[in-house]
Amino acid sequence: MAVCEQCGLAHRWNPLAPGAVARCVRCAAVVGRGHRFGFDAVLALTVTAAVAFLIAMGTAVIEVRLRGAAVAASIPEAVLIAWSEGQRLVALAVAVTAILAPALFIGLRLYVLLPLARGCLAPGFAICVRALHHATRWNMLQVFTIGALLSLVRLAGLADASPGPALFALGALTLLFAAIESAGLKHLWWHVR
Ligand SMILES: [Zn+2]
Repeated sequence: MAVCEQCGLAHRWNPLAPGAVARCVRCAAVVGRGHRFGFDAVLALTVTAAVAFLIAMGTAVIEVRLRGAAVAASIPEAVLIAWSEGQRLVALAVAVTAILAPALFIGLRLYVLLPLARGCLAPGFAICVRALHHATRWNMLQVFTIGALLSLVRLAGLADASPGPALFALGALTLLFAAIESAGLKHLWWHVR
């Protein structure tokens, strides 16, 4: 079922052709859209996102050169440095927005999508899809990426700073997440039936 957000009328949900728009029969508000990405495309995007996430975690975000010495830190290293220097709130905020939330978002998607690709349901499917609905809302990687870019611009005025591979991976991840989110979650339920 799909419920109109404007007037509350319930409609029977049918799969839509890519690019098609379903409107409420009573008030003509948009109830659903036929997404351009099918199941296979979303799975491929999610696997790509997992690879980009590993690169973003394992390589340097920002490389700084000061008097000949180069310093580079990955995101997990930056979290540990901030924590050990007493900036616990910053460490926690970065750990949640840049590590935990994206890991949960990718992990849950893969957990749900991979068994579906083989035609079976992951245990706890319904709970996972609902958790994904919330994880999508709390995914604030864009905020972190912009923050990292801003500090890079600031640092560039003080020292010889350049973006590391992780920053490019984060940029790619932001776009991948937007593409995956645009496909919504309804197609998962449709794939089950
Ligand atoms: Zn309506």
